[in-house]
Amino acid sequence: MDFHKQCLYVVATPIGNLGDFSPRAIEVLQRVDLIAVEDTRHSGRLLQHFAIQTPMQALHEHNERQRADSLLQKIEQGQTLALISDAGTPLVSDPGYHLVRLAREKGIRVIPVPGACALIAALSAAGLPTDRFRFEGFLPAKAGARRQQLESLKQESVTLVFYESPHRIEETLADMQQVFGAERQAVLARELSKTFETIRDGALAELSQWVDADANQRRGEIVLLLEGAPQQDEDEIKPDAERVLKILLRDLPLKQAAGLSAEITGVRKKKLYARALELKED
Ligand code: SAM
Repeated sequence: MDFHKQCLYVVATPIGNLGDFSPRAIEVLQRVDLIAVEDTRHSGRLLQHFAIQTPMQALHEHNERQRADSLLQKIEQGQTLALISDAGTPLVSDPGYHLVRLAREKGIRVIPVPGACALIAALSAAGLPTDRFRFEGFLPAKAGARRQQLESLKQESVTLVFYESPHRIEETLADMQQVFGAERQAVLARELSKTFETIRDGALAELSQWVDADANQRRGEIVLLLEGAPQQDEDEIKPDAERVLKILLRDLPLKQAAGLSAEITGVRKKKLYARALELKED
């Protein structure tokens, strides 16, 4: 394996199933001089399981800005460091952003070691469009701010991905129903890669009832995915547009009627012209 010295490795760890820890991740963690971890006790257990004896240093959201500089100094002095978080890919709803940014500013090489990430795992199995998606991380805990955030996503047409705590899943599903409507399709992906992995799709109303009725669905770790808002079809001629076209066709030549209708309704002129031809033929 290629191993570079005097750099920062950003290493993904499993999100539940230890079998997802890649051989490269394990080797990097064995070979670096120091591992920055979110929680030394939590990561200590993982590292012990894989016989990784590298020293650890805590780097969590409360001390990241202060610690980043001294950690990077160690690299400048010749050490090689790795960053891991409690689970999955660091920086994805996890600490590490300030460290990586500062490292890059200082010209320190940052090397990712890819692996598990709950949002990507959920997307890969949800059956919702993945060509474009929007990751929203955790919604605000306070009801007002959460609803406001959801309102701002109402017209978003790409797949939406949220991380959610089991304590709030009922409230969030209820709020989503209010904002997006009971019929909007969603997928609840729970305990991915673990024993009780559950991936269920359905309308928001259906998922909401299911979670309310079964306390087990309010346990563990959850990714919630929502189908995007249906896209407005620019070419669709709604009844109002058709009415305008018909009225104008009574007194105007086809081309002019289509042009004016396009200006009034916003529907494309070509589309209206084609429709006008059909109406004339009828
Ligand atoms: N960095 C992690 C990643 O790459 O996915 C995410 C860390 S974030 C603090 C933790 C959240 O990720 C959980 O609350 C849950 O929403 C989601 N998550 C993590 N592991 C999961 C799993 N096994 N199944 C479902 N969701 C999971």
